[in-house]
Amino acid sequence: MNVDEKLEPILTEVLRRNAGELEFHQAVREVLESLGRVIAKHPRYAEQALIERICEPERQIIFRVPWVDDAGQVQINRGFRVQFNSALGPYKGGIRFHPSVNVGIIKFLGFEQTFKNALTGMPIGGGKGGSDFNPRGRTDGEIMRFCQSFMTELHRHLGEYTDVPAGDIGVGGREIGYMFGQYKRLTNRYEAGVLTGKALIYGGSRARKEATGFGATYFVQRMLSTKGLDFEGRRVTVSGSGNVAIYTMEKVAEFGGKIVACSDSNGYVVDEDGIDLELVKQIKEVRRERISEYARLKGSRAHYVEGGSVWDVPCDVAMPSATQNELTGKDARTLVKNGVIAVGEGANMPSTPEAVRIFQDAGVMFAPGKAANAGGVATSALEMQQNASRDSWTFEQTETRLAIIMRSIHDRCAETAEEYGNPGDYVLGANIAGFVRVAEAMDALGVI
Ligand code: GLU
Repeated sequence: MNVDEKLEPILTEVLRRNAGELEFHQAVREVLESLGRVIAKHPRYAEQALIERICEPERQIIFRVPWVDDAGQVQINRGFRVQFNSALGPYKGGIRFHPSVNVGIIKFLGFEQTFKNALTGMPIGGGKGGSDFNPRGRTDGEIMRFCQSFMTELHRHLGEYTDVPAGDIGVGGREIGYMFGQYKRLTNRYEAGVLTGKALIYGGSRARKEATGFGATYFVQRMLSTKGLDFEGRRVTVSGSGNVAIYTMEKVAEFGGKIVACSDSNGYVVDEDGIDLELVKQIKEVRRERISEYARLKGSRAHYVEGGSVWDVPCDVAMPSATQNELTGKDARTLVKNGVIAVGEGANMPSTPEAVRIFQDAGVMFAPGKAANAGGVATSALEMQQNASRDSWTFEQTETRLAIIMRSIHDRCAETAEEYGNPGDYVLGANIAGFVRVAEAMDALGVI
């Protein structure tokens, strides 16, 4: 799809103003490609520079993070928080610690987050943060000191009514704990709702850890059901082996699917008996080791492929759950050739634009990340709700809410795609439904 000629100048201006930020360009272009149909139907959305304002973050914070490593050396990293849009609620979105992090990546993630959060129907705006800090190989003490220093600067920009971070790549329960501890110390406030993804013992929500993967699986299940299909007996490949991947595998297995492969940034493992999830959890969550360990510990039926692409493994359903642009046009062609029927994005923007086009042209059901992986942030909003009411729900109660939210996101995307003339196009449906909600709120709030 091309960007409508009326929207072309907006895209040109975004590219000029954010020179070199390729991931951000990619994310904005994809949304603007969908919006031509909206302004054709409702020209008022093209007025008041509404779309231009949505493409410009409300605030961007870049800061120095000094910390001392175990050898006593002072180290410097760069910290970011992009507060993208607060029309629907406080900025909400994760923090990523990864050496690839830069302002363009955080901006793309914050932009995606704004529409994703809108799609949940919950009162949360969009934001994202992170650092180019590489946690790999760092000791627990180093991680703690880094998190404390990061929060020493960031805390002045946060608050349960202002900006509520959570985890993302490289940031899990341990890091959230260190950041929450430092926030509490600096502010002298037990403000539980200022961070989500907390451990249960100090204000976390049951099912938050599982939520992104479970949610993505619920979404794909609902998408398959529109064609009278389900996961039962299907071969499923999941990329990554972090939090999203692990709980995707768990739910897919519960729905009767067989996980044949998963990966990390070094390579992938194939296990024709179905991936042994307890072993993956042991390796990744407890021992914090590489996925190659899986094949070493499992022996004969499993094998590890160093480098290479996990998408070479034939499957019925692909769930990319690692990182942006990990699934290329070449991978998409391989998957289509091998008969893939559905793709559900657990990560943020894991398929390149070429890959998305190949799937859609081949009639493969395609669930974009901003809809399919919204279960994580939706459950973060449930955590905020529990914190605000000083309550703690059961696992069942929380998961039931998550399942209802995912069903409604699915249905809203499907109905919107139909309303705008392209039934089954979840990319179009998600972009338009997310945009309309943000745009309506911004419009109601005046020129902000
Ligand atoms: N990082 C997650 C995402 O991409 C979760 C954000 C949150 O819970 O605030 O949606």
